[in-house]
Amino acid sequence: MNRGMWKLYSLVFLFFVSSVLSANKNYEFELIKKGKQDGNTMLVVGGIQGDEPGGFVAASLLATRYKITKGSVWVVPNLNFYSIIKRNRGPYGDMNRKFATLSKKDPEYNIIQRIKKHINNKDVKLIVNLHDGSGFYRKKYVDSLHQPTRWGQCSVIDQVSLDGVKYGNLKEISSSVVAEVNKHLIKKEDVYHVHNTRTREGDKEMEKSLTYYAINQGKAAFGNEATKNQPTNRRVYYHLLALEKYMHIMGIEFTRDFELTPKGVYDAINNDIYISLYNGKIKLPLSQIRDIVKYFPIKKGSELAFEASNSLVAIIKKGNTYTIQYGNRRLSRLKADYREYDDANGSVGFVVDGKPVDVKFGTLLDVKDNFLVKGNNHYRVNVIGYTTSSKKETDKKIRKSQIPRRFSIDKRGNIYRVEYYNKNKFAGMVLVNFK
Ligand SMILES: [Zn+2]
Repeated sequence: MNRGMWKLYSLVFLFFVSSVLSANKNYEFELIKKGKQDGNTMLVVGGIQGDEPGGFVAASLLATRYKITKGSVWVVPNLNFYSIIKRNRGPYGDMNRKFATLSKKDPEYNIIQRIKKHINNKDVKLIVNLHDGSGFYRKKYVDSLHQPTRWGQCSVIDQVSLDGVKYGNLKEISSSVVAEVNKHLIKKEDVYHVHNTRTREGDKEMEKSLTYYAINQGKAAFGNEATKNQPTNRRVYYHLLALEKYMHIMGIEFTRDFELTPKGVYDAINNDIYISLYNGKIKLPLSQIRDIVKYFPIKKGSELAFEASNSLVAIIKKGNTYTIQYGNRRLSRLKADYREYDDANGSVGFVVDGKPVDVKFGTLLDVKDNFLVKGNNHYRVNVIGYTTSSKKETDKKIRKSQIPRRFSIDKRGNIYRVEYYNKNKFAGMVLVNFK
């Protein structure tokens, strides 16, 4: 990534600052409001069950990689954040069965109240709940994987229509979403169908679901199902096809910064994830990060404050290990080197491939051949892994071959840490990225 890109993503970043902090502590879900409020809002919910990454990753990409240019979209990418992090369908039971009646003692009671409030917001006119179902829904029995009791690859409605309600022509809308998705199938087997659960006619299970709750509040609501019988990027691909069609139907306009193909989605999921620690003193790209990063400077005696590019990122502390989790996936474990922190946030000088440059802490600096850290009266510099016969590591040209690969923070062996200390206090980190 070039520095321009990095800056661009830094902007996206700021958006998540406060909310991710709270999500980290209490696993509270996030509501991300996009576009301009105009009384015609689509509410997208992902992650009601933590073992369905297609749904919650699709919602997360909608939150981070789409720009809403007309209209309004609200996204909850991580409704059951605790179950996502635990990679467990429902640590406290199936959350999608808690919308009819629920004891106040239920550990998820507050989450349900919160999402109900958003569903009932007067601006919300259409709700899509994203799921990854098993197998392939078919109206008639084909074989055990393709039959009416399977949930994969369908658009779910509770009834044909909801009279007197905007977008209440549920079946019609569902059918046009299905038709659109079916124009872009990866393989024939993936074909979508409308799945009407006819909940009102006595489906005791579906009566407790989020969409049926919404229907009873007079809101158009749909379920969208991808299938668990395919990799996550393909599930996300199908969810996004459907979501784009819903937006089209509602007159919501958008742009996105990746190609809507299975490959484009794969790259969007796996690149450009990062966290920023302690007000940007450290910024870590996560897509290629090592399983374990040792001697990582963590602030002594305080909670770890971080921001993430994406609301599916959580950091879980156990002893002196900080596990970075991205949805269902464990990305890395940071082994703490507890340090006092120096609060100053200045800029520091480098010479990169012969060109002088001043950068802030938290920068990822692209280097072709060599870099040199300029001496600085304020700070002692430690280029992690680099050793030299003299005491100082500043004002020396350093090439990639001079740092043992095992010290890189990424699996590819390209990214190395330059750390600044004021006496023994950690002041900040710059990462150099050999391209
Ligand atoms: Zn589900």
